Amino acid sequence: MNGPVVVLAGGTGGAKLARGMLDVVGARDLVVVANTADDVEIYGAYVSPDPDLVTFWLADRIDERGWGLSGDTFNVMDGLREMGVDVWFNLGDRDLAYGLERARALAGGTRLTDAQAAIATALGVQAKVLPMSDKPVRTRVLAGGRWWPFQEFMIKTRGQGPVEDVDFRGAQAAEPTADVVDAIVTADAIVIGPSNPVISIGPILALDGVREALQASRAPVIAVSPLVQGSVVKGPTDVFMAYAGQPLSSEGIAASYGELIAGLVADERTDLVPVLQTDVLMDSSDARKRIAEQALRFAFALS
Ligand code: GDP
Repeated sequence: MNGPVVVLAGGTGGAKLARGMLDVVGARDLVVVANTADDVEIYGAYVSPDPDLVTFWLADRIDERGWGLSGDTFNVMDGLREMGVDVWFNLGDRDLAYGLERARALAGGTRLTDAQAAIATALGVQAKVLPMSDKPVRTRVLAGGRWWPFQEFMIKTRGQGPVEDVDFRGAQAAEPTADVVDAIVTADAIVIGPSNPVISIGPILALDGVREALQASRAPVIAVSPLVQGSVVKGPTDVFMAYAGQPLSSEGIAASYGELIAGLVADERTDLVPVLQTDVLMDSSDARKRIAEQALRFAFALS
């Protein structure tokens, strides 16, 4: 291989695939482009849930609850509650430390990309985890007749639909970083992770220049379906697919990406695109590695 394998990712699903891909191609040849439209500034910290989740997975430090660092404590949140603060967004102490340091770096003019790299370095992660852009993009969701910042929608309404509209504020004025474009254009293969097509991958594709870079790349682009037996494993993918008018099936996932993908890895076929049919539940390190390996082989076969 000459170029990297690029994984486009949100949090959970994309992060698990990235962890499998690390076993298959190694850190030097893995670049993960992560969604930053879920980022939130809170408690003085800059929190970047998707890039951090990917980083924690790659470091084998993800907690069993599915977010945050394993073994983290929550003393600061307890202290804030004692002070009467409405702690609607829970953050572990170490997680908060990373967010505080990132906020300090950003305030001093450091690029988000470099602030993220500092967290990877601290956790011993050598693969590249690239924020999709250094400019702010923020997802807002119209539900129940009001616009919610994404994290408030997820936590305060528990991600309940129906979703009436979605907006990636700032996306049009934000471009992917040069690091992201370079990774895509020089990639050997590009795998869209099993993430929410609408709100995890959607913001990455909405950036001015990402679709062009994908088209300019000679690398095959495939997607891994976030649906297992026609169901969502975690999170509100169903609610957002309904908003997008797509069925919760391989057909709906393939249609979400349209011409962009040359193939889909999924447990159910569709006529829209070539499908590598396999079990896509990544509940063990063996399964994560197997799916990453199969996806990569499938991508190369399509190129
Ligand atoms: P979020 O920011 O944590 O919501 O991140 P993502 O968008 O990356 O992850 C949500 C998606 O991951 C959901 O659609 C899940 O169905 C999918 N997902 C989670 N675990 C798995 C898995 O083991 N296999 C597959 N194929 N998808 C998964």
